[in-house]
Amino acid sequence: QIRTRFAPSPTGFIHLGNIRSALYPWAYARANNGVFILRIEDTDLERSSQEAVEVILESMKWLGLDPDEGPYFQMQRMARYKEVLAQMLEQGLAYHCYMSQAELEALRERQMAAKQKPRYDGTWRPEPGKTLPPIPPGVQPVIRFRNPTTGSVVWDDKVKGRIEISNEELDDLVIARPDGTPTYNFCVVVDDIDMGITHVIRGDDHVNNTPRQINIFRALGKEPPVYAHLPTVLNEQGEKMSKRNGAKPVTQYRDEGFLADAVLNYLARLGWSHGDDEIFTREQFLQWFDLDHLGKSAGQFDEAKLRWVNSQHIKMTDDAKLAPLVREQLDKHGVAVSDGARLAQMVGLFKDRCATTVEIADWLRMYFAPVSPAAEDLQAHVTDAVRPALARLAQRFAALPAWEKGAIQQAIKETIAEHGLKMPQLAIPVRVLVCGRAQTPSIDAVLELFDKKIVLDRLQSV
Ligand code: GLU
Repeated sequence: QIRTRFAPSPTGFIHLGNIRSALYPWAYARANNGVFILRIEDTDLERSSQEAVEVILESMKWLGLDPDEGPYFQMQRMARYKEVLAQMLEQGLAYHCYMSQAELEALRERQMAAKQKPRYDGTWRPEPGKTLPPIPPGVQPVIRFRNPTTGSVVWDDKVKGRIEISNEELDDLVIARPDGTPTYNFCVVVDDIDMGITHVIRGDDHVNNTPRQINIFRALGKEPPVYAHLPTVLNEQGEKMSKRNGAKPVTQYRDEGFLADAVLNYLARLGWSHGDDEIFTREQFLQWFDLDHLGKSAGQFDEAKLRWVNSQHIKMTDDAKLAPLVREQLDKHGVAVSDGARLAQMVGLFKDRCATTVEIADWLRMYFAPVSPAAEDLQAHVTDAVRPALARLAQRFAALPAWEKGAIQQAIKETIAEHGLKMPQLAIPVRVLVCGRAQTPSIDAVLELFDKKIVLDRLQSV
């Protein structure tokens, strides 16, 4: 059974580039009847917070990336890491190293001066027939992993292809600090083993950790999982996306009126492809997703493109499904929706010209809250010449037995004929007064969705 994981560090901020590392493992598990696990890597106590965990959960929930297991928290697994450390010491897979910080520094400087790559020299590494230095008093040792000294680590990365790293390049990694706390690479391996992870799909900023992790897997008698290292997501300036250079938190897109499925579609496409398909549903994505079509080059975030994808999803989403999202946006702006029943119809009338649900809500507020036409529009369109026709139109509207498109259209036609006007000469002032703007979709369709009384009041307001 396929088991994947998303393993974020809860450091307070999660942008679209980060959450893409959740999307693919989620999709791979879903597409293969597997299990998707959420693991919170919270061992950096200074930078981790409960609030940040909430942000991760909320972002995943919004996008529908629900974990089947977890969240697991690394801080709650300390006893387990220590157990494995003890076992590794006992089996000679790891050893205590008493080299002090100052000695390490001195070693490093000597190596740099000799133009060698700085690496631990194995002073405390036990070897058959080797006498270790006497243990210095009062020094708390670190624990180092006994990395193989010969051969190489090879893996077939699903994105990057075959990677081979010679063990000579890897020194004996510190797996526990002097205070006994386990280090990052070690915890990841213990977790990936205990959680039965079969596929590690993560950002390629971790590719240098992989050979070290694979060696620890093998030392523990386990075969490493399949790895897929995703290229970074760049921002519009071509830099790595980050909070510092203006990346927005994932949930801000929800607040700005983006649809979860559109964001999912956009992100999916940012590092993976299915032929030329640009727009797809969540179901299609899950049907099509595979690791073989992950892209090798860095995806570049493009907000205009995301808006376009969102506008396409708005077009293809049912009005009834969009209505509650639009209602939320109206609520947020203090506009109370009095006519919920007609909301879906209203959405249907305007959605084709909108890229976000915020833009739809912007249109619909005229149905529920007073409008304030711009002075220039009033001056330009609601002229003295047209006032008598507007008054007459209001009378005709008032007399209509049924408030519907056909009758509204008829009343407008009769009024322009009577007053010798052209359609826009009457329709534009009606728009300005009733809708607060000079351009709208077809006036009869727009008016039909108003409460008739509101239309009459607004027409008579001048
Ligand atoms: N916690 C790591 C990060 O946030 C991910 C580790 C992994 O996926 O192995 O970048």
